[in-house]
Amino acid sequence: MTKHNFNAGPCILPRIAVENTAKALFDLGGGLGLMEISHRSKDFQAVMDEAVALFKELLNIPEGYQVLFLGGGASTQFCMVPFNYMQKKAAYLETGVWAKKALKEAKLFGEVEVVASSADRNFCYVPKDFTITGDADYFHITTNNTIYGSELRVDIDSPIPLIADMSSDIMSRPVDVSKYALIYGGAQKNVGPAGVTFVIVKEDSLGKVDRKIPTMLDYRTHIGEGSMFNTPPCVNIFVLKETLKWVKSLGGVSVMEEMNIKKAGLLYDAIDNSKMFVGTVDKDSRSLMNICFVMQEQFKDKEEDFMKFAQAAGMVGIKGHRSVGGYRASTYNALPIESVQALIDCMNEYESKNL
Ligand SMILES: *Cc1c(COP(=O)(O)O)cnc(C)c1O
Repeated sequence: MTKHNFNAGPCILPRIAVENTAKALFDLGGGLGLMEISHRSKDFQAVMDEAVALFKELLNIPEGYQVLFLGGGASTQFCMVPFNYMQKKAAYLETGVWAKKALKEAKLFGEVEVVASSADRNFCYVPKDFTITGDADYFHITTNNTIYGSELRVDIDSPIPLIADMSSDIMSRPVDVSKYALIYGGAQKNVGPAGVTFVIVKEDSLGKVDRKIPTMLDYRTHIGEGSMFNTPPCVNIFVLKETLKWVKSLGGVSVMEEMNIKKAGLLYDAIDNSKMFVGTVDKDSRSLMNICFVMQEQFKDKEEDFMKFAQAAGMVGIKGHRSVGGYRASTYNALPIESVQALIDCMNEYESKNL
C-alpha cells in the first residue's frame, strides 16, 4: 500500500534526493563512496561548494552573508546565538515549545525580555502587536511553530538585529534575508536529513560581545574554515544539496510557496468544511507546513478510532504532538499533493460513515 508520510521531522524527502544519495554512498564519482572519502577531498569540497551556492541562489542571499553547515542541531543554536550576540539583554517572541527552549538558553547569558507570548491560548496564534525592545542586543523569533502549527510568514522589520529559527519553514517561501542578522535551523524538516544544521549569518553582525567564546561555538571559526573546522556531516550535506537541486529544478522557492499554499489550502478547506474536524490555530496564523486539527467536542471519543482508520489507509505521522493532541499533518515541500488529497479523502470517508 502507498504510504503517505506526514511526519513532522525527520520527514519526507524528494525521492530523487534519496536515490542520488544511495548511488553516491557507493561512488561519489571518483570511485570511492560518500561515507568513505575525506571531507578535504576535491570531490567532497565540490559537494560543500554546491550546497552553499544553491542555498545562496535559492534564497537570493545578499553579499555580506555566509552560509554554514554545522552539527549539533537547531538546539545547539539556542545557546550559540546568545553566546555570540548577547552582551546584556535579548528580546524573544514566545510562540511555542521551540521558542521557549531557545529563550531558556538565552537566560543563561543575561536578561531576556519576552516581548509577546501566545502561551495564554496554548500557542494557537502568533502575536502581532508587540514592540521590539530597542535596547536589546537582538530579537529572536521562531518563524514556524512546528508543534502548534502557527507561522509568521512575513519578514518583519526590526530596529535591532533579527535572528530567526527557520527549522521548519526554510525554503518553503522566498525570504528577505537582508532583514535578518542570522537565520538557523535543523535540516530535517524541509531541506535534508537530521544531523546537519544550516546557518545564514551576516558577517558584520558578529564580534560585538566581550565574552570569550569557545572555538566550536564561535560562528567566526566556521566562517573562517568554510564549515570544515571539524569534520562536517558529509552525507547529510550531500542529501541537503540534492534536496536543494530538486527545489531549483521545480523553479525555486516561489514555486515551493505556490505548491505549499495549494496543498495547505486544500487541507484547511477540508477541515473548515468538516462537521467532525476542526483546526486548532487562528486562521490568520495558520502554518503552511504543519496543519493541526482535532475532533470537534462531540466527537472526541472517536479520535483514536479515526487514527486507526487513517493508518489503515496508509497515513503515517498524523498524530498530533502531545501538547496539542488530535492530529498534525506536516505538508513540507517534498510531500506530494496526492498525499494531501488522500488524507482529505480519508477524512471525508470517515466522516460520512460516522457522522
Ligand atoms: C525541530 C525543531 C527544532 C529542534 O531541532 P534539532 O535539530 O532537533 O535540535 C528547533 N526549532 C524548531 C522550530 C523545530 O521545528
